[in-house]
Amino acid sequence: RTPLASLSDDDLAGFLAEQQSAYEALKARGLKLDLTRGKPSAAQLDLSDDLLHLPTTTKDRAGVDVRNYGGLEGLPELREMFAELLWVEPSQVVAGGNSSLTMMYSTIVDFLLFGGVESPRPWSQEEKVRFICPVPGYDRHFSMLASFGIEMVTVDMHEDGPDIAAVEALVKDDPSVKGIWIVPTYANPSGAVVSQEIAARLAAMPTAAPDFTIFWDNAYAFHHLTEDEAKSADILSLAAASGHPNRPIMFASTSKITFAGAGVAVLAASQANVTWYLGHLAMGSIGPDKVNHLRHVEFFRDADGVRAHMRKHREIIAPKFAAVDEALTSGLAGLEVAEWSHPTGGYFVNLDVLDGTASRVVALAKEAGIALTPAGASFPLGQDPRDRNIRLAPTFPVLDEVRTAMAGVATCVALAAAEKLTQ
Ligand code: PLP
Repeated sequence: RTPLASLSDDDLAGFLAEQQSAYEALKARGLKLDLTRGKPSAAQLDLSDDLLHLPTTTKDRAGVDVRNYGGLEGLPELREMFAELLWVEPSQVVAGGNSSLTMMYSTIVDFLLFGGVESPRPWSQEEKVRFICPVPGYDRHFSMLASFGIEMVTVDMHEDGPDIAAVEALVKDDPSVKGIWIVPTYANPSGAVVSQEIAARLAAMPTAAPDFTIFWDNAYAFHHLTEDEAKSADILSLAAASGHPNRPIMFASTSKITFAGAGVAVLAASQANVTWYLGHLAMGSIGPDKVNHLRHVEFFRDADGVRAHMRKHREIIAPKFAAVDEALTSGLAGLEVAEWSHPTGGYFVNLDVLDGTASRVVALAKEAGIALTPAGASFPLGQDPRDRNIRLAPTFPVLDEVRTAMAGVATCVALAAAEKLTQ
């Protein structure tokens, strides 16, 4: 195919007419499809149904009755399992409730109200608090910060992590820059994996704020789509080795491993940070749901059990990611009006369309019965300065629906581009 921008006016008008009739045909099909949700499909949830019959006992290894109060830091067996998976010490792991997002939220609330172990004062007493937000990124990270009135400064997310030179420049002299979000493995939505080198620079870089914190959200640490399984950088060791042991706080969960609404979330950090976190948690909780912890331990047995389980997820979802790529390639390759990611893990495909057309693509798709995540959702305040970014979430619908929806999306992308170029 010829790139759209190099077609003659006549050929471009012809292309536009073709796409318009393809689009009318698409609308006439009366589809009702949804690619908005980064949720596991029913078939994926079914993989963990044995959990519904567990645990088989009421006692943990040490004989503690899991039905009762206590054990704020979580079941020891589960902490050990996550410690192995995340390459940390069991004592550095807190196993909590069903949501890592909730743990991130309460961590930031603790920083705001009390300050962290390195803080000169609570963040709420600072004139201004700013966070570095690699973009595109996870919308809920950004809406959380917005709800606290924390200012967001964007840097570009590259294939090997955030634009590290930009990050280093931002943190060097400005003590109001207190944190950064990092989704190190198979980032939402780009699929990027933070390289060892960039992780080391994040851990070691001089920061004006003594309590600058890396919120290392490893939500997709084990969510491989290929045999080439990416290893997350060991941020806690890197930070400790460069003299900043309290800089990173790591989060993960089984939301996309077992049940999204009834999994287990964990936080991992330096001993001082764990003590700090638990000290505040103790004011609001007598202990987590250890019955859920125990049934997860019984279900997986060990870290290898988790890895084996993730391969079953991969069998279900890898074909859906392949279908996204096939539909986009078949509809758009060569036109030079779109670029998309080829993730080797995680839950999303990042689609960049012609500048200024993402909102139009989403609106066209909606009119044709295909729900897409709102354009700009992966940017702070929902504002994509180039109006080109669309996050695709292919895991939830069945494979056939992914194929149909994505062929439709390709038509919408081509139509919006042709409209733009003929304006
Ligand atoms: N972090 C990232 C990067 C996510 O994409 C998601 C869910 O989409 C979450 C966290 C939510 O995690 P949890 O279910 O443990 O709260």
